[in-house]
Amino acid sequence: MIPLARPVLGAEEEAAVVEVLRSGQLSLGPRVPEFERRFAARVGASHASAVSSGTAGLHLALRAVGVRDGDEVVTSPLSFVASANVIAYERAKPVFADVDPRTLNLSPDAAAAAVTSRTTAILPVHIFGYPADTPALERLGLPLVEDACEALGAVHADGVGVGGRGHPAVFAFYANKQMTTGEGGMVVTGSEAVKRRLDSERNQGRAPDMDWLDHDRLGFNYRLTDLASAIGIAQLDRLDGMLAARARVADWYREALAGIEGVELPCEDAGDERRGWFVFVVQLPRGVDRDAVIRALLERGIQSKPYLPAIHLMSFYRETYGHREGEFPVCEDVAARSVALPFFPELRESQVEQVAEGLREVLGA
Ligand SMILES: *Cc1c(COP(=O)(O)O)cnc(C)c1O
Repeated sequence: MIPLARPVLGAEEEAAVVEVLRSGQLSLGPRVPEFERRFAARVGASHASAVSSGTAGLHLALRAVGVRDGDEVVTSPLSFVASANVIAYERAKPVFADVDPRTLNLSPDAAAAAVTSRTTAILPVHIFGYPADTPALERLGLPLVEDACEALGAVHADGVGVGGRGHPAVFAFYANKQMTTGEGGMVVTGSEAVKRRLDSERNQGRAPDMDWLDHDRLGFNYRLTDLASAIGIAQLDRLDGMLAARARVADWYREALAGIEGVELPCEDAGDERRGWFVFVVQLPRGVDRDAVIRALLERGIQSKPYLPAIHLMSFYRETYGHREGEFPVCEDVAARSVALPFFPELRESQVEQVAEGLREVLGA
């Protein structure tokens, strides 16, 4: 079976975990700030706060830019559900705007049209690792929180890496991401005040200099352990190699899938924009039964999955906010046809060819 995703883990991660285990300090120890410093330097941010998941990071980042009960936050409907859920956590309203048909990221024009007097933030998602048009969204003059959970290694056209623009930007370390800590996340920011607030709210609202029995604000337990941070440090050491391997696998896919009639491939990098390769998602021709394709691939030993479903059409979002089909046509068309293929650094060229051959057969092309 060729799986959808598989992390790269070796002796270095093993040794790092054993070292923390033997130290006896599994949490609130030295590995957390070390991981934060290394990660911030890696993405070109001044500060970083490690948290227990990407979702936890997005939640804290929204609170840090001041999103509250009754506010509206403009965001993309073509994302993993977490980026919209975190808005609902604060009893604010996710206001969706359609995506750009090339990049599949929040369209700046659609976002501008969705802004009202109640909008207090914009939450773009760098979907499938392709950099969102953050410079255009910055011109709307509202606080931004970037969902960079799929975009480690991506670069904007002006040469600034995703995460390096100063807005809170959130990365995630679930096992299928560019690097993993099992579960985990990181919020990077250009603001020391935001970093202080994140550090407090991930730890029950405790100020760094406070007695552990006193708390001056509401907080959560969104801490990352030293075990996870140690894995993260080891993963950072091999990150360049893993990102290069992903880019190489993407090149093999482009070559192997070229010429399968009607199958659309991920957009190429435009100008100086660089994708941070996370998934390889193709769009099937209109009218093809996607579920049947996925089943037929599985019979050939190839895992694949619909990726991503439109958030506004999920039951919770339909029922809570009254969404219906037809509101965001670009997103809905893409969401109905997209299939993620096996994609990870150690995928071999022969396996990529096997996936392409399987898809060709299944589509009768
Ligand atoms: C992975 C991911 C997240 C965060 O996921 P966690 O499982 O909470 O770490 C958020 N947004 C997007 C777009 C993601 O792909």
